[in-house]
Amino acid sequence: MSKFYEVRKRDGAARIGILSLHGGKKARTPLLFRIDLLSAGEEVIKVIHAENPNFDDLFQEVLWNAPRGAVILPEVHPMFTWVKEAIPSLFVDFFVLSFASAMLNSPRDFVRRIIDARNAVPPDAALWVPAIATVENAALMFYMGVDVIDDTNAVVKGCQGIYLMEDGGVRASELDELPCNCRVCASLSIDELKQKNNKERASLIAKHNTLVLDKEVKKARACIRAGNLREYVEMRVRSSPFLTAVLRILDSEEEAYFERRTPVARNCSMMANTMESLKRTEVKRFASRVLERYEPPARKILLILPCSARKPYSTSPSHTRFIDAIAGYRGQIHELILTSPLGVVPRELEAVYPAAFYDIPVTGYWDAEEREWVSSCLRAYLERKMKNYDVVVAHLSGAYREICASVAEDLGIEIAYTCEEDEGATSKEALNRLKERIAGLCGDKQRLSGFEMKMSMIKAMADFQFGLGAGRQLLGERGGERGERLKINGKFPSFKLSSKGDVFARIVPAYGLLTLTVKGARRIENLLSSYTLEIGDFVPRGSILAPGVVNAGEQIRVNDEVVFCGEKAFGVGRAKMSGWEMVESRKGMAVQVREVEGF
Ligand SMILES: [Zn+2]
Repeated sequence: MSKFYEVRKRDGAARIGILSLHGGKKARTPLLFRIDLLSAGEEVIKVIHAENPNFDDLFQEVLWNAPRGAVILPEVHPMFTWVKEAIPSLFVDFFVLSFASAMLNSPRDFVRRIIDARNAVPPDAALWVPAIATVENAALMFYMGVDVIDDTNAVVKGCQGIYLMEDGGVRASELDELPCNCRVCASLSIDELKQKNNKERASLIAKHNTLVLDKEVKKARACIRAGNLREYVEMRVRSSPFLTAVLRILDSEEEAYFERRTPVARNCSMMANTMESLKRTEVKRFASRVLERYEPPARKILLILPCSARKPYSTSPSHTRFIDAIAGYRGQIHELILTSPLGVVPRELEAVYPAAFYDIPVTGYWDAEEREWVSSCLRAYLERKMKNYDVVVAHLSGAYREICASVAEDLGIEIAYTCEEDEGATSKEALNRLKERIAGLCGDKQRLSGFEMKMSMIKAMADFQFGLGAGRQLLGERGGERGERLKINGKFPSFKLSSKGDVFARIVPAYGLLTLTVKGARRIENLLSSYTLEIGDFVPRGSILAPGVVNAGEQIRVNDEVVFCGEKAFGVGRAKMSGWEMVESRKGMAVQVREVEGF
């Protein structure tokens, strides 16, 4: 349990927090401890040594008037199990992972030790992995959930005459110039550095090394704040096979660890530039929710379309033309967009995160893994939902068409193609063919009214966020069945659902989320148990802090729309931490309250 550490922002397992140091100074994590300051007794190490003379003190809250830490022992230590079991009941602000240098023996050890430590330590305590930080591995460590590192390694390297750069170190004696603008390098030339005596040279290189590491920590912090640390890590691990292996092991073996910590939505774009991007939590989560939490509208024709660079797709020039071509019959057509890395995106979900928030390099070339992943998404979708449709039409060419054809063959489904293999999907011929084929299949015209389109979008988004059935209840079984006249206002996709002036829900395009009002939440209350938190007997104003949460749905993730209820209040807001974290933490904001009803 922590008293002097508080997490303020999360980006996956990475966090920005405030550690109140001895003497009232506050430091932001991810934090770089400088060993020269630590050994001079200016920072926290003093607390570990001097203020915990008695081991039993760590179990007592009263004696705790300054930040303090405890050591996580290595497995070989005789007291390992005892300490591991004691961890949840310790009153400390941070934990130090002992023997960290042994993790560098293998990428698997690196993953195992840090993930085990983070899982053992309460979410409101900081984790310090000492002595192994480099400029290359710092961002990856933060991505895994480490909060504190130090410059031991950078200083030791400096004493050995090794000059650190962003992607590794070189011997200073081999440099012709100093490739850096830090205050050390700006103050002298490489020749002047070489002429210094050994001690002075070592100290200057060590200082430079610390500054380069410090810059990296600041960069990682900026990424966490912006919500794009994953993209930065994908780029950063390229500097070594060891780090690339760590990321791949994390993606394939620690899915649950990251799923529990990854925000459900962000207000920034997801860049899918590398092979590892296919394995991101957001991609896997989207694909599984399309299967588990999405019900296509009852329309007999499935039309598969290619994705577009502009999002939401229907605002792009290509989709505007597809929609024009089928406009007269859209009431009978269900549109499904085939794309990498998300797999398949139903038209109704095009505004959700990350469907409206991703970017990929488009070259027309798809590698084998990408094809395999997108094929598996389309296959799974058709296996489950094919019973909804009579006919499948695919307006696809190139790799999209090849993927679709191979899946159709596997499943024994007949697909009508309206593009030639190498023809652009927006060519006049292809669009005419699409128009004619659809007219032939549909017979009578049946347009999709604006209201129907908006209803199906809100329904799909509610199901996607809260689980199947939520949409139907929010809208009233068939829309307006409760004798009310539902209204949907606003410009695509900022729709607002209301009835007689009472607003129920809004689509917030900046996050790709549906938000509820108290009146809206009341309509689906019985379905929201997974997204509900029970609070103590108070009426929250502005925010709910973790200690005020009695219980919270296990499925709640950062930025999820949640409902809270207690003896004195019922309301809605946005989660700022995962449900399990709200229950396990004693510090930090759990929910940002939007609307509350007190009784
Ligand atoms: Zn420098």
